[in-house]
This record gives sequence, structure tokens and C-alpha cells, in this order.
Amino acid sequence: MAEKLSLMNNVNMSEYSSMKTGGIAERCFFPQDEKQLVDALKTLEREKIKYYVLGNMSNVLVPDGKLDFVPVITTKMTKTEKKEADGKLHVYACAGVKLTKLAYEICDMGYLGAEFAYGIPGTVGGAVFMNAGAYGSEIKEIADFVDFYDIEKDEIQRIDNENCDFGYRTSAFQSRKGVILGASFTFEKGNRDEILTRAKETMQKRIDKQPLEYPSCGSAFKRPEGMFAGKLIEDSGLKGKSVGGAMVSEKHAGFIINKGNATTNDVKELIELVQKKVKEKFGVKLEPEIRIL
Ligand SMILES: Cc1cc2nc3c(=O)[nH]c(=O)nc-3n(C[C@H](O)[C@H](O)[C@H](O)COP(=O)(O)OP(=O)(O)OC[C@H]3O[C@@H](n4cnc5c(N)ncnc54)[C@H](O)[C@@H]3O)c2cc1C
Repeated sequence: MAEKLSLMNNVNMSEYSSMKTGGIAERCFFPQDEKQLVDALKTLEREKIKYYVLGNMSNVLVPDGKLDFVPVITTKMTKTEKKEADGKLHVYACAGVKLTKLAYEICDMGYLGAEFAYGIPGTVGGAVFMNAGAYGSEIKEIADFVDFYDIEKDEIQRIDNENCDFGYRTSAFQSRKGVILGASFTFEKGNRDEILTRAKETMQKRIDKQPLEYPSCGSAFKRPEGMFAGKLIEDSGLKGKSVGGAMVSEKHAGFIINKGNATTNDVKELIELVQKKVKEKFGVKLEPEIRIL
């Protein structure tokens, strides 16, 4: 029964993607645990069917129209284990656990280090893959190890933090064939009230500065060294620039938002237009942070 529940037909990806764009997936897997995820991947590999493993789809642009791949979406893999010992909290979270929810639980238990993650709308798998970060902290600082299924070797590997090659919005997993099954994190005991205050202040900064009332993928571009993408875009006169239903946010020029009827092609065209204009004006090539499937 559970096996059957993990497969859905004719899924409209715009209902799942945080940009609220994307076409129809004829088949879509929603594995509920590591075994179902690995089995789904093995089947797809064996049948030579193209696929992408996805989390909360808060950093991906899904193509329009009928998809030529099978999405394997981890958001039903929500098992979490927490253990307190010697003033520390050890957390193991499966790939599909929502980062914001987990971060809040850790803060609420009075442990330090997860405040930055409160408000990042991804899953643990997506956050590890991207080395997600905010306000000066990132996944690299809190991860102990990552469990990874290596498709080529057909084995589950436990990869220590230092071998994850975490960098600015990158990790070793971006160039490896396989899937993140879960990750382990450690947090130190702190002052609960201060921690919760800090987490809530972080969330308030997001509400004040980011266009959260519109669908988006967060920052559309990576920060070029020593600069801010949003400032370069704003200084290129691109605030409010639109292609179809996609628009450079008036509130935060680093965000591309969906005003209501955008397609993925609109967003892609706008990304290219922004890149061209910023390159012309400042000679800087902006690299998308959004992953275009
Ligand atoms: C409003 C808003 C604010 C945001 N703020 C931030 C921020 O402050 N900091 C930040 O870093 N990001 C931010 N983001 C971007 C995004 O939330 C993060 O990149 C997040 O970590 C992506 O997680 P996800 O589960 O949504 O991944 P997805 O978007 O589903 O996938 C992202 C990539 O990870 C891969 N992936 C996902 N799960 C797995 C897995 N289990 N195994 C292998 N590969 C996998 C996918 O194939 C894809 O290439 C923001 C986005 C939005 C919409």
C-alpha cells in the first residue's frame, strides 16, 4: 500500500514549486522513507528514465509543459531523531524534513546554532545540497555527517562534514550521482529566551526585506565576491522589470517574483535579461543561485 501511495500520476508541478511555475509530470515519486527513495532511484536507473531528486522546490525552476523527467520528491520523508547528552543536542533528520520547522524546534529546546535556518523554506536534503545559509551562518557549521546513497557504487555512505566540500551555496553532492538520505547535526545548550528572540528577529528581517507575499525562489543570483547582487540589479535600473508574469521585485531587487501568471520561461528570460544588463553596466557576470532543471 505504502509503495503505491508513493507514486502519483499527472502531477502539476506549479502546485508544488515555490515559484508556482512548471509543467506536468506524468509520473512523480513521493517516497516515504530511505528504502522507498533508493528503490525508486534503482528502478528509474534500471529503466534508463531521466529523473531529479527534489525537496521543497524552493530553489529550482521546473520546465513548462510536459516534463521529460520523473520528479522524486522527498517531502514525505520526515523522520527526525533528537538526543540530548552532555549539554548537547544531536539531531538526525531525514532528507525531507522541513528546515524551518526543525530549526524552530531546536531553538525552542534552548539549543544554539539553528537560528539562521529559521525561515529558509527548504528541506534538510536541499539545504545540505546547497549548503544553505543566511545572516552569516550556513549548514557547514552545524552538520556532522551526511548519509548519501551512491548510485554508481550502489551503497549508502556516511560522509563526514570535512568531506562534504561545503562552499558558498555548493557542496560535494552537486557533482556526485546519488541522493542525500539524511544528515546529522549537533547543537550546544544556550539561553532559550535569547535564542528564540534571535530566531524571531531573523524571521522579522525576512518579512521586512523580502517579498514573501509573492512566489519566488529566494535570491535569484549568488553574491558576487565583495558585492551584492540585489544592489547591482537595482543600480542597473531593473527594479520592477518584467517579462510576462515574472518581475524583479520592487521590494528586494535580488528576488525574481511571480506576479501571478508567470511561466518558467518568463523567469528564465528575465534571469538572462538581468545578467545581460548587469554585465553591460558593471562588467559583472551574475551566476544564478536558482537551479534551472
Ligand atoms: C522566500 C525564500 C527565501 C529563501 N532564503 C534562503 C536563504 O536565506 N538562504 C539560502 O541558502 N537559501 C534560501 N532560499 C532558497 C532555498 O530555500 C534553499 O536553497 C533550500 O536549501 C532549498 O531546499 P529545497 O528542499 O527546496 O531544495 P529544492 O529546491 O527542491 O532543490 C534544490 C537542489 O537540491 C537538490 N536536492 C534536493 N533534495 C535533495 C536530496 N535529498 N538529495 C540530493 N539532491 C537534492 C535538487 O536536485 C536541486 O538541485 C530561499 C528560498 C525562498 C523561496
